[in-house]
Amino acid sequence: MRSWAFRIIVLLACLFGLEAGAVSASGARLGENGSVTRFVVDLSEPVAFQVKTLGDPDRAVLLLPEMRWSLSPGVGQDGLGIVKGFRVHVTELGSSVVLDLLAPASVDAFLLPPQDGAGSRLVLDLTPMASAAESGTAIASAQAAPAVAAVMVLPPPPMAKPRGKRLIVLDPGHGGVDPGAIGASGIYEKEITLAVALEMRRKLQATGRYSVLMTRSTDVFLPLDERVRVAREAEADLFVSIHADSLGSKNHRGGTVYTLSQTASDKEAEALAARENKADIIAGVNLLNQPKEVLSILIDLAQRESMNLSAQFAQILTVELRNRVAMNRNSHRFAGFRVLTAPDMPSVLVELGYLSNEKDEAVVRSRAGQAKFADALVDAVDRYFAAGRR
Ligand SMILES: [Zn+2]
Repeated sequence: MRSWAFRIIVLLACLFGLEAGAVSASGARLGENGSVTRFVVDLSEPVAFQVKTLGDPDRAVLLLPEMRWSLSPGVGQDGLGIVKGFRVHVTELGSSVVLDLLAPASVDAFLLPPQDGAGSRLVLDLTPMASAAESGTAIASAQAAPAVAAVMVLPPPPMAKPRGKRLIVLDPGHGGVDPGAIGASGIYEKEITLAVALEMRRKLQATGRYSVLMTRSTDVFLPLDERVRVAREAEADLFVSIHADSLGSKNHRGGTVYTLSQTASDKEAEALAARENKADIIAGVNLLNQPKEVLSILIDLAQRESMNLSAQFAQILTVELRNRVAMNRNSHRFAGFRVLTAPDMPSVLVELGYLSNEKDEAVVRSRAGQAKFADALVDAVDRYFAAGRR
């Protein structure tokens, strides 16, 4: 089984509790104290939880383990304070409570220990965000990025089981009708990216430790989404897209490794959540029947995990590249490249250098230069997986 899927399932298992139905919720209610609206769930015992706020419309979402709910009929229909009402959803992945809000709110969430014969209580204190209210238009609040109000500490997932060869997907940028950047000597980016990727494949395979899949191995055009789809369908452990930049300035040189930016990731998580084919968003996890709010949080969790791993790999790769070729001063950067948006696959995009610079162009064209990029990738991949990452 794909280790990433294993890991997200472990994560979800931690999040939602392994002992199904062991916990029960006997009540849920709203209270008010000045400007603070308090939401309380009465629990038979303490549980792990996660809270997130969402905009457009404003909501707070509480993720809980699978548990038995015995609430009085009609509970949650009446609002109080900033809360218009709340709904409890129970699915095979766990429970969630969605609180519909009249305005954006900050959430303070905590567990109160058992007291006076009563069980544990999970408390959400919701305070209207004055700044958000003052920011004016509905458009402004709709565009505000959802903020994590409180995040529980997840126990670290157990080490993955030993597994076979890791699968690296190499994605030579551009191709076919799309030449990409054009070099100082007239060479096309699409030729360079393919030549370097082929050398990378040769060296990775020569180690005997890795399987390699290329999104293209000839001069063909391939849409960006298709590149990601190919890699995800193959259940890649790592996705490396290869490009070579070009600038107006001929003097600028050096390589850069990109990973997905948080802003782009937030947007992507929202877009993915809004799409129809929900079953396919996170490998190995059936997301059908999840309320939309919960879905976007699950995608967000998965994507955060992938972004962390991508950043770790990017750090290692920039060091290995810097030992061999010219690199930009700020050589790990964040951007919203479309090929980096898979929520469940660590992904980096390497700009080998600037084709507009004669020295960079000479390096990426030469066999010796291409071998250096390939050596850097092999060493980085070795170090990345040796550190016990899945
Ligand atoms: Zn490119």
